[in-house]
Amino acid sequence: MKYLIMIGGVISGLGKGITTASIGRILQSRGYRVTAIKIDPYLNCDAGTINPFEHGEIFVTEDGGEIDLDMGHYERFLDVNLTKSHNITTGQIYGEVIRRERRGDYLGQTVQIIPHVTDLIKSRVRQVARESRAEICLVEVGGTVGDIESMPFIEAMRQLSLEEKKEDVAFIHLTLVPVLDVVGEQKTKPTQHSVKQLLAAGISPDILICRSRSPLSENAKRKISLFCNVPENAVISAPDVENVYRLPLLLDEEGLGDLLVRRLDLENRGRNMSGWKEVVERMERATRVVRIAMVGKYIRFPDTYLSINEALKHAAGVNDCRVEINWIDAERFERSGGDLEMLRSYDGVLVPGGFGQRGSEGKIAAIAYAREHSIPFLGLCFGFQLAVVEFARSIGMKGANSTEINPRTPHPVIDLLPEQKKVAEMGGTMRLGAHEVIISRGTRAFQIYGRERISERHRHRYEVNPRYIGRLVRKGLVFSGRSADGRRMEILELPGREFFLATQFHPEFKSRPGKPAPVFDAFIKAALKGK
Ligand code: GLN
Repeated sequence: MKYLIMIGGVISGLGKGITTASIGRILQSRGYRVTAIKIDPYLNCDAGTINPFEHGEIFVTEDGGEIDLDMGHYERFLDVNLTKSHNITTGQIYGEVIRRERRGDYLGQTVQIIPHVTDLIKSRVRQVARESRAEICLVEVGGTVGDIESMPFIEAMRQLSLEEKKEDVAFIHLTLVPVLDVVGEQKTKPTQHSVKQLLAAGISPDILICRSRSPLSENAKRKISLFCNVPENAVISAPDVENVYRLPLLLDEEGLGDLLVRRLDLENRGRNMSGWKEVVERMERATRVVRIAMVGKYIRFPDTYLSINEALKHAAGVNDCRVEINWIDAERFERSGGDLEMLRSYDGVLVPGGFGQRGSEGKIAAIAYAREHSIPFLGLCFGFQLAVVEFARSIGMKGANSTEINPRTPHPVIDLLPEQKKVAEMGGTMRLGAHEVIISRGTRAFQIYGRERISERHRHRYEVNPRYIGRLVRKGLVFSGRSADGRRMEILELPGREFFLATQFHPEFKSRPGKPAPVFDAFIKAALKGK
């Protein structure tokens, strides 16, 4: 097993996840089996209990992990399904060490960060790498070097490199090279300082990847090489890109692939990036634009809907168009005289997942508008539930709602799943991960998926109240997808329209460049048609 450790420096938010995923793609295109681990140095056991304002979207894995969004980049770039064990957090590690201490596993010893915590980190990393049957395991350490909370992880990685053969572990440091507007020169000092921090932790980086607005100048490269003790060809320039899927191609052109092959002493298996390149170029070639209104609550921070944005881009890519996504604060439609009319200028309306009362009436108003004006509509999870609420109200169930929003609604068309009623703890207790969905023949959903049995990822506590299904269906709402036992409603559609469809599950998590989620593909096609 070869380990490639990614550690960030200077500032957070440099795109370490995308860079890690891109490196994975480069290695994969050279014929190696690659997997990736993300380390998050926070005390939460997983990302499921964190407000998406903090770290962005909560990504859901097949096995029901609620994890860091970087894992979504890994899945999309590597076209693999990862499990929740690929996301290691401080909470998991400390929790386990404390459990072991209580059990008496360390009897007689003083339990300490070194070696007990660091040992457990190493063994978890090795175990995940082994179980994934990969040849190369990328390990992305979250945070920036120097943060107190990432120290035990960085120390564990130092120890790992000591225990493994030199050619089996390499360190990549990702830094920022800013430009000061007044002088217009690329400044290397932050990178120098960051490398010093890393050296103080006992790690000498093998490769530096430097984020900058434009490609690194020869001068900046030379300087960084000299001051940071890294050969000039191992100073890799990572300029801003408009399309993140281009990054693997750019980094490979910079020589990163060859460098890694040499450093990790890998056998030469050739190189084939052509498939990826084709997908990327097709995405970038398109000139037609579809405009999608995304009506949500967490609009100020686009990362909260990262996988949806990506799924829309994937779908646009294979339909030879570009997608312009406008995030619209649902609350603007709640004010009297809310300008719903503005939705008319869009080719499609999307109501994504969400939680809680705030903005829900605005989302319902947007759904009603899309339905009444035949604007292609896609609802996801909460968006699905609110589409049910909206439909119920439209057939005369005044005040219909989800009990999540109004526990005293006269028509609780959306209610807690029965098994949720006794759930007391919040962490990891929703209906999570991949579940089978059975699609009825002769429906739009069947057209879209082309088969009866599909599997999609979930993350919800509420569902369509079984008591109302009969009434809704009699009035024309079609539940075209149901859970395998037939009890849970999974897909809804309104027949006779271009596109009015919503899913209880999250199709966005399985979408990949060149292979969009079928629901998104159909939505974009419908949006294009209406232009
Ligand atoms: N709040 C809703 C539920 O818990 C929807 C969740 C979601 O959109 N992910 O069921």
